[in-house]
Amino acid sequence: MSRYSAINLLRNALGGHRHWPVVWRDPAPKPRYEVVIVGGGGHGLATAYYLAKHHGIRDIAVLEKGWLGGGNTGRNTTVVRSNYLNDESGSLYELSLKLWEGLSQELNYNVMFSQRGVLNLAHTEHDVQSLRRHVFANRTQGIDAEWLSADEVRAFCPILNFSPGARFPIRGGSLQRRGGIARHDAVAWGFARAADRLGVDIIQNCEVTALKREGDRIVGLETSRGEIAAGKVGVVVAGHCGVLAAMAGFRLPIESHPLQALVSEPLKPVLHTVVMSGLVHVYVSQSDKGELVIGAGADTYNSYAQRGSLGIIEGTAHALIELFPCFSRLRMLRSWAGIVDICTDVSPIISKTPVAGLYFNCGWGTGGFKATPGSGFVFAHTIVRDEPHPVAAPFSLDRFTSGAIVPEHGAAAVAH
Ligand SMILES: Cc1cc2nc3c(=O)[nH]c(=O)nc-3n(C[C@H](O)[C@H](O)[C@H](O)COP(=O)(O)OP(=O)(O)OC[C@H]3O[C@@H](n4cnc5c(N)ncnc54)[C@H](O)[C@@H]3O)c2cc1C
Repeated sequence: MSRYSAINLLRNALGGHRHWPVVWRDPAPKPRYEVVIVGGGGHGLATAYYLAKHHGIRDIAVLEKGWLGGGNTGRNTTVVRSNYLNDESGSLYELSLKLWEGLSQELNYNVMFSQRGVLNLAHTEHDVQSLRRHVFANRTQGIDAEWLSADEVRAFCPILNFSPGARFPIRGGSLQRRGGIARHDAVAWGFARAADRLGVDIIQNCEVTALKREGDRIVGLETSRGEIAAGKVGVVVAGHCGVLAAMAGFRLPIESHPLQALVSEPLKPVLHTVVMSGLVHVYVSQSDKGELVIGAGADTYNSYAQRGSLGIIEGTAHALIELFPCFSRLRMLRSWAGIVDICTDVSPIISKTPVAGLYFNCGWGTGGFKATPGSGFVFAHTIVRDEPHPVAAPFSLDRFTSGAIVPEHGAAAVAH
């Protein structure tokens, strides 16, 4: 801790916390911006940051209807990896993983990225074949991937259930050692602070209620804090992208579903990696505070309510105990849900739209936290150049008419 920080800590401890410097400004919206980003989650904030940092645009606003990171960015289980199956996805998520590796330095803010590895378990012959195929695909993409035998999995994560009577025997696993977890709030705050310092106006409690067009061109927005004119608008609102698309007069091939997660009481450090099982359908990591962070699949019905059904939580807890009997007496502290935006091919949309000057970044579904820096990086390029970044090109909206989809369904085991 620097001398300045120590003095500040003491001053605030004795002074009722009134002297902390603001981390980002709280400006009133201006009547016009060159670029407006709708959505103050990680992806929107990262887009604004890279627009300002790499493309020299400083007349930018990020409009957030609630508080920064109050959407999926602050509700996710923070698994970061790049071992997707298709080359297009591999390029996108690997770009992001490389940015993660320098993100704390880039933002001068500790996002607590911990490369503790992501282990996918194989329980059946089919699992073995498909995960090995996955490992080979990743290696040809230049992405680190290893196949572990059952004995190697046991040595790597000894608390897994290797008893002879286990209902789901472990036959091996794939491991991406560069994968891991990060601190979700810190990612939003780090990008917000860095974007603010580059002059980006971050405006919270500002809901976009209409998108204004003149003919086929976007010209501005109506918001709960008045009208704002804009040269270009980037929409990054995750589960609400269908609502914003309707405001612009088109539909997206996306469904919104609740996705839940739960957290246990804290434990001593026992789990030093992220473990996933697509077959038993659960994944778990241990946070730096000691809590287990646990998730599984989305609720099957469509909803905009940020709450899910008890059946998913019960199934997730059953699956956890199948894999880790030692967790069977743990108490769960809390559970919650976010609204995830799932495309028909389970890949994201980073794209121009039928409306000139309007761009959408959405469809990250259950797995977009890991893409936060890469998504912002390629989306900023797409907005500035009015053409997709080469890495983002396969994720344009026109893939749903050309048929060149990027099918990632199931390729990720549990899709996180
Ligand atoms: C339970 C759960 C677990 C997950 N686990 C993982 C994981 O382990 N790894 C992983 O990679 N991904 C995971 N995800 C997915 C990940 O959280 C998302 O893909 C990612 O965070 C999306 O970020 P975002 O910035 O696009 O969206 P958000 O963080 O949701 O930001 C969108 C913002 O838009 C705002 N907004 C909406 N409508 C308007 C409007 N009209 N006007 C203004 N603002 C508006 C919202 O308030 C919100 O803050 C998980 C998601 C959930 C719910």
